[in-house]
Formats: sequence, C-alpha cells, structure tokens
Amino acid sequence: MYNTEVIKIDDGLIKEHSINKIAKTTAIEKAAQLLLNNEVVAFPTETVYGLGANALEKQAVSKIFEAKGRPTDNPLIAHISDKNQLPVIIEGDVPEIAKKLINKFWPGPLTLIFNKSLRMPQVTTAGLNTVAVRMPSHPVALALISKVNLPLAAPSANSSGFPSPTRAQHVYNDLNGKIPLIVDGGICNIGVESTVIEIEGNTVNILRPGGITRKMISEVIGDSYQVKLENSAEVNRPKSPGMKYKHYAPNTPLWILKNENNLEELLSKYNINNKETLLILSSETLNEIDKGFVKTNIKNMGTINNLEYIAKNLFNLLREADQKDYELVLIEEVPNTDIGEAVMNRLKKAAIKTI
Ligand code: AMP
Ligand code: MG
Repeated sequence: MYNTEVIKIDDGLIKEHSINKIAKTTAIEKAAQLLLNNEVVAFPTETVYGLGANALEKQAVSKIFEAKGRPTDNPLIAHISDKNQLPVIIEGDVPEIAKKLINKFWPGPLTLIFNKSLRMPQVTTAGLNTVAVRMPSHPVALALISKVNLPLAAPSANSSGFPSPTRAQHVYNDLNGKIPLIVDGGICNIGVESTVIEIEGNTVNILRPGGITRKMISEVIGDSYQVKLENSAEVNRPKSPGMKYKHYAPNTPLWILKNENNLEELLSKYNINNKETLLILSSETLNEIDKGFVKTNIKNMGTINNLEYIAKNLFNLLREADQKDYELVLIEEVPNTDIGEAVMNRLKKAAIKTI
C-alpha cells in the first residue's frame, strides 16, 4: 500500500507550455526520482492520464500491470520526448511513410508500431517482437519524460476495464493506495486515447482509432497509400492485443441508443422510462424529445457538430454516471466520422447492448 500523493502543476505553466519551468517543479522532481527508483507515477497527457514507469526495466513495468490489474498479454505504449530516444526502443529503419506521419503528428496522439530493440523487455510488449511508441504533446508529460531521459511505458492510469481517466480525480478514485504519486495537470484536452497504427507495405492499418483521425492520416500519406481500420469489415484479422478484454466500461450497465430509433417508444418497450435510468443525449436529440413523456434523468453530451467536445467529456460522463445509483445508462450514438470514430469504438467496447 502507498500513501498516494497528488501534486498539482500550476495551470499557468501548462497554458504557457513552459516545459523547462514545469521540469523544475517539486511535482516533476519527485515524479522523476520515483521513476528512476523503478516506481510508477500517474501523469497527464493530452489524451488521458497515463501510469508511467521506466519502459526498459522489467521490475518497474510489472508494477504498472499490478496497480491496474491489467492482463499481462496486453502490451504497453512507450512514450518518448525526443526522436533521439527511438533507437533505444526500436530495431531497424523507420519507413518513409512513418517518418512523414511522425513529422506531422508528433508530439501528439499518434502511436506507431515498430520492431522492438533487444533492450526493450518482453513485459513491456507483452511478449511481442513489436513495440508501440508515441511522443505526447502535453507539456507535463514532455517535462517528465525529458527529465528522466528514459522511455516511459504508460497505459491509461485507471483500473483495467474501467473508463479511462481524464482528470487527476479519476486516477485517484481508481488507484488511491496503489501508486505513490499522481501529478495533476488538469483536464485532458483530447479525452480519448491515441490512434494506434501499423504500417504494412503501402497500407496504414489503424489498430485503434483515436485522437488522430483517419482523414488526418489520409491527407498526409497521399493517394499511393491506403488507410484501413483493423477489426472492421475492411480487415478481419484481429491484431491489436488487448482487443479481447472488457474496456472503458462503467459499473452501471451501458446501452447504446441508435439515433434512428424512436426514443419514447424504446423507453416504453424496455420499461425504462423512470428515474433509475440516465439518458446521455446530444443537444440535437434533447431539443426533439417529448419532455412531458420522458421521466428519466438526462445529461447533455453536447452538439454532434462538435465531436471533439464530446470526445473530451466522454469518460467523465461515464464515470459521473457511476457515482449515482442508476440502474442503467443509455448513451446516444454519435456520427462515426472524424474523432466520432474513436468515440464509437470506445462506446461499443463499453456497452453491453445496442437498442
Ligand atoms: P493503453 O495504453 O491502455 O491505451 O493500451 C495500449 C494499446 O496499444 C494496447 O491495448 C494495444 O491495443 C496497442 N498496442 C501496444 N503495443 C502494441 C503492439 N506491439 N502491437 C499492436 N498493438 C499494440
Ligand atoms: Mg487503457
């Protein structure tokens, strides 16, 4: 058991993106010291909070799996702050197309798969010969990684299976007593995890949709390359480990509401038009419903014209739902375009039913 400490980084320093000043704060000094001693530390990234450890030390990485209760066959992403750290992690040349994507999207929410170096222990990659790498853009993450000057293995800092943490409080709720330190850097801007890609010949396979959209990737790689979404109708061979596990799910049963259906009819059909149900709806649907008829609790997820906002608040909404004693949460589907593709990917994994 740890006596979990939470240390906040000044908002002003984050807004200024002052990596050097952030690196000198007590929070980062302490975090770096812990990481150098093979301990784990939770820290903010632009996607979600990460639970970091020295990616090159088996003993340190094992503590991540332990604290999260994460299955050991689910590999981790190594986070770097400088491209110079790549040769320590990967083996072989970086394909031209990967270089293009890295130049455009790093630092940022794009994770690439490469062959792993001999220095990278099996525990980090869950026994695979490949390793996932990204450079986050959050100044606190960059300050911490550059201070320790080590690649940090960092999955989301939640209990395995639950919604990812987008605020320090979420991390605390899940991991209090299990980790020594949470560096609080406010609310994560993107709110869903990074896009994980693998390059195979002239194809970019999206193993997990995320903060960098399919459209953004297509625009960079040009017409001689194609982009495919793994585990979709386009590709039917599951490759991204960890896909088989429960993910992102609140304790309260979650159903997805297809927006072509008549909401009032469905509430009656399933006998859920009552205060035990929470409905999470877009502002558009909220404007259309019959307020005299609907007896459920209602939350507004925002307009479907701003999918970035919906993504940013998604996990917080799911976590908030768990704090009340609802019996059921219904969430409206969003358009499967742009970052909506990542939102729907997470919702489909979190939900037990679609109506
Ligand atoms: P998390 O950090 O919890 O968001 O999970 C990282 C995810 O990245 C894993 O669940 C995998 O889907 C993916 N990943 C990490 N390493 C690899 C790899 N070597 N090959 C394919 N996918 C990977
Ligand atoms: Mg995760």
